[in-house]
Amino acid sequence: MMSLNVYYIDIVDLTEVVADTDDPDIYWMKDLMLYKEDKKVLLHGCWLTESIITAGQILLRKENQNIGGLQPTILSENFQFSIQKEEFVQILYVNNSHWLTISSIGCPKGTINVYDSLSSNGLSTRTMRVIAGILFVTDQRKITINHIDVQTKSNFSDCGVFSLAFATSLCQGEDPSIISYISYQLRDHLYKCLENRKMLSFPRRSRQRTARSGHQTSFNIYCECRLPQYGSMITCERCEEWFHKKCVVAPNAVWKKGNTIQWFCKNCS
Ligand SMILES: [Zn+2]
Ligand SMILES: [Zn+2]
Repeated sequence: MMSLNVYYIDIVDLTEVVADTDDPDIYWMKDLMLYKEDKKVLLHGCWLTESIITAGQILLRKENQNIGGLQPTILSENFQFSIQKEEFVQILYVNNSHWLTISSIGCPKGTINVYDSLSSNGLSTRTMRVIAGILFVTDQRKITINHIDVQTKSNFSDCGVFSLAFATSLCQGEDPSIISYISYQLRDHLYKCLENRKMLSFPRRSRQRTARSGHQTSFNIYCECRLPQYGSMITCERCEEWFHKKCVVAPNAVWKKGNTIQWFCKNCS
């Protein structure tokens, strides 16, 4: 019953948004697709919306055309980020309402840095899949993640503000791990940056932060798509590489329990 109610509310909200989009009065800054709702979110200390994160990334992209990534975060929903072969900065939506920043700046191939104001736990399988999709590493069997020690947020709702602060520092060639941001000024600063259509360095203390050394994790990637394990997988009898069911053509029988049919990948058959 509960889930039905939630579904119903979702539908109603969506209809309202669609019906309102022609009304110029709902915009805060139409060129950045920011609504008055977003302004409220920013001013009232709420968890940042996808539109605010995307607007910040649009401005960073405009000023830093030598840096890749900064793609609209909504693309991660269906794993639609495009592959980045050059150095990039990207904000990601991860594990239940959390924003963090990843970057390949200064990283060897197949490695990325994660800047997470929640100094969290590991990455979800879904996030690993998103990251592997952006990197598309063809000549290595794993992806290495450097979890960089950065300043942690002081409250639940500031992860988005920090993710944009980290992204801005990275675009400006700075190392976020040694910056001691002034937490309570970040939101106002972001507000002004958006209104002025220019991302400037986020307020920080003059004294550098002492970063602890971060830690490193890694995950394996497989198949022609070079993504981590998900769903049913099959192994090639010759090269012993694993492949996703979604990515290969194989007779139905090989997916059945107790299968004895040998299967060979495209390269080996
Ligand atoms: Zn695959
Ligand atoms: Zn093979």
